[in-house]
Amino acid sequence: MVYFNLYFLKRRARKWWPYLAILLLLIIGYYEGVFHQFSSSSVLDSVDDQSRSTMKEVFALQRQVRLLRSVLKSYSIPEREYSDVLLPTIYVITPTYARPVQKAELTRLKTVFLHVPALHWIVVEDASQNSQLVSNFLKSSGLTYTHLHQPTPDEWKLKDSDPNWRKPRGVLQRNAGIKWLRRKFMQESNPRGVVYFADDDNTYSIELFQEMRHTQTVSVWPVGLVGDVMVERPQVSVHPKGEGHQVTGWLTGWKPNRPFATDMAGFAVNLALLLKKSKAEFSLSSQRGFLESDFLGNLVKLNNLEPKAELCTMVYVWHTRTEKANMKHEERLRRAGKPTDEGIEV
Ligand code: UDP
Ligand code: MN
Repeated sequence: MVYFNLYFLKRRARKWWPYLAILLLLIIGYYEGVFHQFSSSSVLDSVDDQSRSTMKEVFALQRQVRLLRSVLKSYSIPEREYSDVLLPTIYVITPTYARPVQKAELTRLKTVFLHVPALHWIVVEDASQNSQLVSNFLKSSGLTYTHLHQPTPDEWKLKDSDPNWRKPRGVLQRNAGIKWLRRKFMQESNPRGVVYFADDDNTYSIELFQEMRHTQTVSVWPVGLVGDVMVERPQVSVHPKGEGHQVTGWLTGWKPNRPFATDMAGFAVNLALLLKKSKAEFSLSSQRGFLESDFLGNLVKLNNLEPKAELCTMVYVWHTRTEKANMKHEERLRRAGKPTDEGIEV
């Protein structure tokens, strides 16, 4: 451009206006440079590349949210139907351990969780380090997640020959999830959210998460296929003072007199309440079958429980247990140096 103008100048040196044109160009060039500097020295200048791209993504998403809101409004869809950004987050803590069915289990959970807005999955591996399989799985899951590990010491590990009630499972992993939450919200006095302990082998419906979303203390509901009965559930009665309903006991086949006779899958805890009770965690030394009851006993009183799922008349979660995969032929092939899963993740 400058070259062009100098050439221009030589040829028409007698005229005055080319000088003015050059001057104008120089002025515009100068201001353009300054402008560029200003526009890029925004809030994003003080952060590193990674956070900058994250922030840009957040801004872009916020723009999309605004756009979607205006579209939804134009169709007269009520705001509560799309106010996900305002929802309390559900922190789902899942203990998991390596075995042939692990990826299948996690996939079943993922498929449901992807339908649940504002869900943060805390996956805690029972291992001395995070595995490649779970890392890759979570990375491509499309979910918001945190990946942790917490090994169970050998003396607390269930042996293949042990009946499954012999030792509690997933205890230290759930506690590691709780500890992570305590650290994350250390600075916040009243964080909004709900905590749910979801073992990797159960079956969860999408409705379950709508039920637990607005838990104020501890909410409870029926669990199907557990405790050697079709369903275990809280007993719900009309409040004596006519103030709605309250839980008065438990309908279970085994020890209904436990203070909180619920399975792990049958309750969710308000995040602020859990964090306020600084000692609330699961205990390896809980008596057999009292893991949940001991934990909840540190958090609430029976009559403060919030009965969900149509006053505990609906089943939205099942304690399905996955059959151990039979590896008879695999073991034979492995011994012969021909595993079927060489170079392929199952
Ligand atoms: N679990 C674990 N380590 C183990 C065994 C189990 O982390 O050695 C996890 C498992 O993946 C599940 C939870 O702990 O999420 C409960 O285990 P399981 O389903 O076997 O218990 P059950 O249903 O028999 O109570
Ligand atoms: Mn289970």
